[in-house]
Amino acid sequence: MTAERYRRLRQVLECRQPDLTIVTDNVHKSRNLSAIVRTADAAGIGTMYCAMPDKDYKAFRGTAMGSHTWVAVRRQPDVTAALTPLKAQGYQVLATHLASDSVDYREADYTRPTVILLGAEKLGVSEAGCVLADAHITIPMRGMVQSFNVSVAAGIILAEAERQRQNAGMYSQRRIDDASYQRILFEWAQPKVSEYCRENGLAYPPLDDSGELVDGLAWQRAVRDGLAPQFDW
Ligand code: SAM
Repeated sequence: MTAERYRRLRQVLECRQPDLTIVTDNVHKSRNLSAIVRTADAAGIGTMYCAMPDKDYKAFRGTAMGSHTWVAVRRQPDVTAALTPLKAQGYQVLATHLASDSVDYREADYTRPTVILLGAEKLGVSEAGCVLADAHITIPMRGMVQSFNVSVAAGIILAEAERQRQNAGMYSQRRIDDASYQRILFEWAQPKVSEYCRENGLAYPPLDDSGELVDGLAWQRAVRDGLAPQFDW
């Protein structure tokens, strides 16, 4: 890890938006999900949710390559399970939906805690998702085709969310809490050590200014001797 790379990891974390997320409602094509994860990362989203059956999710994880490194992708069995806890935390749910009561996506206020709900390739957002939504938003279609590819729609809407949040200064100061910041930074800088720590119930050891372990040999000896600080993961 170079000091430059470590600085970049910190810069990215400083921009993360803990109150902006995506829920996909039975989007099942791996290439679409991967494109959505990449777009989420670019807009500063740190966690997103896929409502889908476990077997489809496992297939996606198998093909996702690096996209999961920077965005935590959590599976939920259905859209109700994905949206209910977020709504309870005060998120507005904006369903991307081509319906008569939909409003232009540029009219929504993305500076509020927001879930963007994306629908399946063929069927769109499910009935349950539409009912749970606080508003339905649409991107105007001026051509002959009726809809965008779901990952393209995600990109267009997240560009607007990013624009509004940029104007509101929401990328200019760190918005995730200290504990999450330190944990994620360690996991990005030291993926193998963090995995080892979680598997073995160990606290993450301190890092220096380059993202390396402070006295890594001493920490390894402490682990070997059972003296390294524990943590209940
Ligand atoms: N036949 C589906 C329907 O009626 O919803 C089309 C699904 S579209 C290919 C897949 C997803 O992309 C949609 O569920 C929505 O999330 C998003 N999407 C595509 N075009 C959109 C648009 N013009 N406005 C808002 N969302 C759109």
